Amino acid sequence: MEERVYLSSPTMHQDEMRFIQEAFDTNWVAPLGPNVDQFEKEVAEYLDVRASLALVSGTAALHLIVRLAGVSRDDIVLCSDLTFAATVNPVSYENGTQVFIDSERDSWNMDPLALEKALKYYDGNSYERRKPKAVMLAHLYGSPAKLDEIIALCEKYDVPLMEDAAESLGATYKGKQTGGFGVHAAISFNGNKIITTSGGGMLLSSDEEAVRKARFWSTQARDPAPWYQHSELGYNYRMSNVVAGIGRGQLMWLDEHKRLKKEIYLRYLSGLQGLPLSMNPYLKESEPNFWLSCALINQGCKVTPMDVLNRLNEHNIEGRPLWKPMHLQPYYAKNAFFTANEEDVGADLFSRGFCLPSDIKMTPETQERVIEIIRSCF
Ligand SMILES: *Cc1c(COP(=O)(O)O)cnc(C)c1O
Repeated sequence: MEERVYLSSPTMHQDEMRFIQEAFDTNWVAPLGPNVDQFEKEVAEYLDVRASLALVSGTAALHLIVRLAGVSRDDIVLCSDLTFAATVNPVSYENGTQVFIDSERDSWNMDPLALEKALKYYDGNSYERRKPKAVMLAHLYGSPAKLDEIIALCEKYDVPLMEDAAESLGATYKGKQTGGFGVHAAISFNGNKIITTSGGGMLLSSDEEAVRKARFWSTQARDPAPWYQHSELGYNYRMSNVVAGIGRGQLMWLDEHKRLKKEIYLRYLSGLQGLPLSMNPYLKESEPNFWLSCALINQGCKVTPMDVLNRLNEHNIEGRPLWKPMHLQPYYAKNAFFTANEEDVGADLFSRGFCLPSDIKMTPETQERVIEIIRSCF
């Protein structure tokens, strides 16, 4: 069997171990400690955001963001539709209701035209049309969304923007890091992300008071009393000091990972030329982190994403379909979905797109082999 080629697997260096060793040497093996404090500070500095909170997962960060947005029973959140379920599930944790917003074709992210339709519809004039509590925007596969347009709409309709930057750590829009545009933002350090702590996440915000509140909820919401007293519902969501050590080591390599991911994208771009497909697009005013390279097979071509993925799999190469849009998920069958016009862009992208192996340990020679196998499908 040929050696396994991964979609995106952890890439460790020597620096992670140094910080882990420090945690062991000083016995800071707990969900707090110097690595956690430093990791929070270093990520906030990298992203140029005021406050940060290290957590057990990106999903935990998204949950706390939904709570900070004040979402409770039946409140509406306007959500990216073409994304991983973790972007939108936390709305349900707080008994809110997701309304899904279709994608545009320039970056595959939330379409401002569809967003405006939803914002116009939910005008607050009735219970049925109650005003949304937030917009939850994901930057798909590391490519920033149309932030200028979306921010302008959020301001016009006075709905706060929340960013799911789980996939886009290190990506910029007009020179500014994603995760710094929303009122609050979440990033993830899950095993397949551009840098990883095995599992972990962080909440980012310009609002220090909000982050203090989230920190309180994330540590079981203990009131300042001599005994265990609780006036609010809490969670055990804090990142461990050992895990944060991995993160500190990884952060030193984020720029290098980005560079390698971009090389992979560019190699696919030239290697797949001439085939009836295109690569995942990005906005001119953005610099993606190129977390995953993706392909979109041309309309009318008989080859399907599963044809290519099955062929890759025969060679022990991992690819995968695009995220299945949330409005097509059985769990969310009853939720509303807004498109810019009659066309369902998310469903179309899903039917023709797939993710290519984008592991930064993949050599150029291995990638050439992947490209040849893809070429043989057409
Ligand atoms: C990975 C991911 C998350 C969840 O992060 P975890 O750390 O795995 O909980 C959320 N949203 C998107 C878009 C993701 O890709």
